[in-house]
Amino acid sequence: MLTSSAYRGRFAPSPTGPLHFGSLVAALGSYLDAKHHHGIWLVRMEDLDTPRTVPGAADSIIRTLECLGLNWDEEVIFQSRRTPAYEEAWHKLHDIGAVYPCACTRKEIADSALHALANRNMEELIYPGTCRDGIPAGKESRSWRVRTIQKPVGFNDALQGNITQILESESGDFVVKRADGLFAYQLAVVVDDAFQGITHVVRGADLIASTPRQIHLQHLLNLPTPHYMHLPVAVNPQNEKLSKQTLAKPVDCSNPAESLIKALSFLQQNPPAEFSAYDVSSILNWAAANWDSNALNGMIRIPHITSGD
Ligand code: GLU
Repeated sequence: MLTSSAYRGRFAPSPTGPLHFGSLVAALGSYLDAKHHHGIWLVRMEDLDTPRTVPGAADSIIRTLECLGLNWDEEVIFQSRRTPAYEEAWHKLHDIGAVYPCACTRKEIADSALHALANRNMEELIYPGTCRDGIPAGKESRSWRVRTIQKPVGFNDALQGNITQILESESGDFVVKRADGLFAYQLAVVVDDAFQGITHVVRGADLIASTPRQIHLQHLLNLPTPHYMHLPVAVNPQNEKLSKQTLAKPVDCSNPAESLIKALSFLQQNPPAEFSAYDVSSILNWAAANWDSNALNGMIRIPHITSGD
């Protein structure tokens, strides 16, 4: 068993809308894993992407975590207030020659022959390396990319097993500073996990493909690599991840016990039927003591049948 100082976990929502069932699963899974190990559990607001941040969403997420009894142990940090830390990391990368300016637009990358994988998600296009050796004549720098290597970067996920990626061919050099001047999620998350001393990252499996990029940045910045556990993602009957885009309903604070019970069932924790009459702290105490992540081994996507949420 780990001691309290040995385990530091976190929930890092992007305040693009209220907490819904999908984000509750990530919040609850990370909370229970931390509390089962007598660890610290933190909340970090990933409000760095200001164009996507919805006013009032951070407050609403915080209030919902409170109504669910998911109490965090230290002050909530906001990425929007941490730009100097990202700037410093970016300078380190710049000083070691790990980043370079890039003039490509998304459209140019999407149109390039190398985007291969018929992946409709623009974020996941493989960058073909156009500006690696300098910006083509007549073009201007837009973003900054980090160089990747043609060697496997891997980790042993607590639920999904060994995951490896050859970043250069499977993701390509990726953006750390965006064309709009904002630092990218991949850089901010690595800087903040290290800043908050996070030892265990428990989050949705939709982020698993980002983890090798984050480990690559940790290596370049000499930062520790936490343990990772990627939880199954809740999908609707159309097999779409629950999200604001797929109209997931906000978690209902008028019946927090029911929300916790549904999320515990999704996490395969078999909450006893009588729990609906219990208060949230009794439910969470039971769930933390009995947390068994092995019940989720290898599960990536699980339909969340109750319609609407
Ligand atoms: N902010 C990210 C999201 O809401 C999660 C980041 C993480 O857990 O690393 O999808």
